Amino acid sequence: MLRYEIIGMGACLADGAKIRVTAMLSESIGQLLPYINAVVRYASFDPGGRSFTFKFRGCPVILEPRRVVAGQLDDLDTAEEVLDYLIEFLNRVQSKKVQINPVFNPKPLPQPVEIVRLLPGTNCGQCGEQACVAFALKLALGQQQPDSCLSLTGDEIRKVLDAIEALNDQQVEV
Ligand code: SF4
Repeated sequence: MLRYEIIGMGACLADGAKIRVTAMLSESIGQLLPYINAVVRYASFDPGGRSFTFKFRGCPVILEPRRVVAGQLDDLDTAEEVLDYLIEFLNRVQSKKVQINPVFNPKPLPQPVEIVRLLPGTNCGQCGEQACVAFALKLALGQQQPDSCLSLTGDEIRKVLDAIEALNDQQVEV
């Protein structure tokens, strides 16, 4: 069974009020990454660099063969809780490998229509993305924050946050 040990902790790069932790894994998950890629809905997979970036329980996570980095965590207790769930998920994927068709390359991501429909649709580019659809995808991947769209009101931002949370709940298929 896979285990982890936290080896580093510091301020989260995206949100200085939160923490980011680095953990070493007890064994390599390099061969497992294509299977994880198959069962996670929104993720960024770099088969060459052998890293896998996705949101897990609302936190941005980077998986490497022997290392995990997780950010936007409230404190060490939360970090351990998220890592415990993550290791449980990885062990579950490992135990179900024979039932999963591995995906060895980055896969086309579905449009997060639940988020797209909540955005203004003007494609103004002020969020730094070329179009609202691209912004929605970054939100699903945890690489953007709703308040980067300056056209959204407070109520609309809350609705987008709810839609992101709902997506997070459907993020893994095992
Ligand atoms: S700032 Fe808002 S309206 Fe403009 S492209 Fe980005 S998401 Fe769309």
